[in-house]
Amino acid sequence: MAVYNGPLCRRCRALGLKLFLKGDRCVTEKCAFERSPYPPGKDKSSRRKLKNYTEHLMEKQKAKTYYGALERQFRRYFKNAKQMPGQTGENLVKILECRLDNVLYKSGFAVSRKQARQLISHGNVILNGKKTNIPSLIVSKNDVITVSERIKNSQELKDKIDYAYKSGIAPWLSLDVGNLSVKILDIPSIEDIRVPFKADTIVELYSR
Ligand code: SF4
Repeated sequence: MAVYNGPLCRRCRALGLKLFLKGDRCVTEKCAFERSPYPPGKDKSSRRKLKNYTEHLMEKQKAKTYYGALERQFRRYFKNAKQMPGQTGENLVKILECRLDNVLYKSGFAVSRKQARQLISHGNVILNGKKTNIPSLIVSKNDVITVSERIKNSQELKDKIDYAYKSGIAPWLSLDVGNLSVKILDIPSIEDIRVPFKADTIVELYSR
């Protein structure tokens, strides 16, 4: 499936929940879902009851949209999650959480996963000393992510990271504010991750 380039707020309204795709705007009264919490083109009474297959499909769409994953990436993550020890649903969530764009977003380098993807695809991110332009990369324990020399002096970036540091970030990440870098201390435990979708329902979908 191709990348979705349409209005992001439409995705939230179509999927029936806030997916926080637009950074700061999502926590203001300008949020389109807050103003119109029903599907685009329908009225307030149309939040329909979904059944079975559609409901399962919606959970997958929520997960893909939330993390910005493409269909083929998502399938690959699921395959890997299935091969890992433990519960497939939990493994899938952990893999998604370890996407490079998500880690940058969670560390304060960007105000949304979309902005983090732009940072990476513009060649501004260094993973373990090497430049990468792949937002869907899955990071591992002890990986270190930093930014290119080109943007290292950006005051806006420094302020963002400083703010994230002071606000507190996920316990599996360690921020070095001075060097504008983040280290993966460990793979996140499922208790450290909150997602707006049911991973078990996605597992059921793929098990059909
Ligand atoms: Fe979704 Fe609201 Fe953010 Fe738009 S502003 S992306 S509707 S959470």
